[in-house]
Formats: sequence, structure tokens, C-alpha cells
Amino acid sequence: MSAPDNSRDIFEDAVGRLDKALRYADIDPEAVERLKHPKQVLEVSIPVRMDNGTLRIFTGYRVRHDDTRGPTKGGIRYHPQVTLPEVKALAFWMTFKCAVAGLPYGGGKGGVVVNPKELSRMELERLTRGFIEQIADFIGPETDVPAPDVYTNAMIMGWMMDEYSKIHRRRTPAVITGKPIPLGGSLGREDATGRGAYYCIKELERLRGWTPHNTRVAIQGFGNAGQHLALLLHQDGYRIVAVSDSGGAIYREEGFDIPSLVFAKNETRRLKAVYCEGSVCTAIEAQTLTNQELLELDVDLLVPAALENQITRHNADRIQAPVIVEVANGPTTSDADEILSRSGKLVVPDILANSGGVTVSYFEWVQNRSGDYWSLETVHERLRRTMTAQFQAVWRIMEEQRIDMRTAAYALALRRIGEAIASQGTVRFFTARDS
Ligand code: GLU
Repeated sequence: MSAPDNSRDIFEDAVGRLDKALRYADIDPEAVERLKHPKQVLEVSIPVRMDNGTLRIFTGYRVRHDDTRGPTKGGIRYHPQVTLPEVKALAFWMTFKCAVAGLPYGGGKGGVVVNPKELSRMELERLTRGFIEQIADFIGPETDVPAPDVYTNAMIMGWMMDEYSKIHRRRTPAVITGKPIPLGGSLGREDATGRGAYYCIKELERLRGWTPHNTRVAIQGFGNAGQHLALLLHQDGYRIVAVSDSGGAIYREEGFDIPSLVFAKNETRRLKAVYCEGSVCTAIEAQTLTNQELLELDVDLLVPAALENQITRHNADRIQAPVIVEVANGPTTSDADEILSRSGKLVVPDILANSGGVTVSYFEWVQNRSGDYWSLETVHERLRRTMTAQFQAVWRIMEEQRIDMRTAAYALALRRIGEAIASQGTVRFFTARDS
């Protein structure tokens, strides 16, 4: 899905939100100034021998935004449209996400400019190992800990951990999270992002008195997070009336049987096949829409779960859903935020709604370092407790200060990051006179 609004540098747009939140967090403006600049930025070239014998050079990035609260943490995405400003914005969001989630981490992110669907499996493995070779001195269990993101998965994380371990000549599972379970992954990491968003929606259900079978949901993006969230909501009786992937969207007023959609998508790797190719096409009656049309549907809950910059100043006034839960990172631009807030929409922001993934990544890192592995029930219970507590903390700030939920989430994060920065001393401390 292409990003329709790239007119403003995405990193500048992300950073611009800090000034508004600063008013609601009693922290030194000096601390905020630090957060406007990433700590370290690395660009690498990755030579890969392709199956046909030719050499291709891929570009990759790793950004460490801020490590005041702990090692930097954040995924690596493989996508043809990856850019440095995008990776910087994603790293910035990770700093705030980890602070909202109360994790002892700062924010980082990585990306490789590639369409992984065009590579063979062996080319993908060579590219992955090549990327780790280039960033092996930059990452580490105590410095910077990658994880999966758009178009990367557990198997790729396993190759990354293996390559890092070979380079450093010691087995180091805690360098990467989201690994396959037999290689030190955590139970419950696979569906953690979707499940975390689900726990936020359960809070909304309680607060707003929703009855699931009367609640119509549209989900943009049917990757890991979108699929797992759809499955959990479907189990509770929610009506998922629209879903989409990069090929387009499908709509069905009565709601979809999500397990069969997930099956069809994973068999064919494309949702398109569900409605327009082969026998399943006739089995499922659905109207086809574009991704943009999906966003503008008259539903009760809209879930952008694909890429950034989807709700912009060009379409924000056409969004009909009263509640938006951001499962993607950065789906809404800051000028769209203003429009949504003027029309009274409730937006549960990405840095809260999709923090389930990094929360279980933290659980995985803890398990790797202690050697003590948890049951699935323990992971689910701890995730539920964390998500619910942070949702309620953000909600309280929103109500007390009468601000939108995103500003409240940033204010909470800023307070936590600000406390950490202030405990090392800021201008207030260094210029105070000792009486
Ligand atoms: N890529 C995910 C995110 O954007 C997960 C990051 C992690 O687990 O470190 O939150």
C-alpha cells in the first residue's frame, strides 16, 4: 500500500508532536530537545550474491533514537519503500512506546530497502546474514535489540541471532527477540501485537458499553498484527465487516468468518485470491473496495494495521468511524490528528495500542537472560495486566487534562523519560545555587 502523503518529512512530523505534549508533562525542555535528535544513525550496503550468479547491493539502516531508559529496542522491516527518515521516525516512536509500556528500554529501528517477495528463500537468508554482518557491532543484548516488523518474521530473527552468535563466537539469544520458539523465542510473541491491541479494545468495550455482535469493525492490513487481532475479536463475536491487504479490500455487511480468511490468505499469500481467484472466490460473497475506501467506511471501529501515513489531511474529514485503534506505526499524520480531534473521534494511539509486541519482546529478553521460560498463560496474563494498566494510565491523563489520547500517551512517556534524564542532571540542577 503506497503512502499517499509524503509531503512532509515523516521524522519531522513525528517529532513535531513533542511540543504539544510538553505542556502536559513537567519536564525540562532541555530533555525534549535531546529527544528531537536520534542518538546514532547507521547506513550500510549489503552485497548479496543472487541465485542467478549476479551481485546486488541492498541498502540497510539501523537507528538508535534514545537509550536513557535502557538498551534501544525495535524491529527491522524489509520493504521496498524504506527510507532513512522513516526508520528515524519509527525509532522515535519506539522510544515513546517503550516508555508508555513502562519497559526498561529506549527506542531503535532498522530497515532494508528490498521487496522480500521477489527474493528466493536462500537469497533472503543471505541478505539477512549480510545485514547482521554489517550491524554486528552496533547491536547487542545490552545496547540495541532488534525484533520483527513489516515483512520480517521469526525465521528471519533466528538467522539474525545465529549470525550474530557466530560473529561474536558465543550463543546470544537475547540480541534479538521474536525468534522461533526452539531457538529461544517466547511463547505468545507471535500474536502479541494483535493481542495487546485486543486488550485495549476490551477496555474500550467496558468504557463505552459495546456489545461485540453490534460492533462493526474494519481492519486495514492483514499481516501478523491485523490477522491476530481479527481472530481474537471474531472469537468474541465482533463483526469484522472489512479487511484489506496491499492488493485491496473486501467488505461484507454480515461480517467475515475470520479463520477461513486467515487460512485463505496464508495459503495464497494474498487476500485477493479470496475473492477473485479460484474456487474460494465464489465461496465468499464480498464486495471489493480500495484501501482508501475501507478507511472511510461507516463502521464503529476502524483499525489501521498496515503502514504509516494512511490517514492524512486529504482524507481525515471523510473518516466516519468514531473510534480508531492504531495498530500500525504512524498511520495518522499530525495534521490529520487535528481534523480527527475537531470532529470528536477517539484515537487510541499507536505507541499504546501496538505496544503488545515489544512488551512480549521484553518478556522474551528477560527469559533469555534468566534461562527461565514462562508458560503461555503467564505471558498472556502479564501482557493483559501491562496493557490494561497503561491504557488506564493514559485514559486518566486524557480525562484529567481534557486532551486527546495521543497527547496523553506522549505526556505519560515524556514524564517517564524526563524523570530518567533529570536524574542525571539538567540545566535546573547544574545552575542551581547551593545555599
Ligand atoms: N516491530 C514491533 C513494533 O513496532 C516490535 C518491536 C519489538 O518487539 O522490539 O513495535
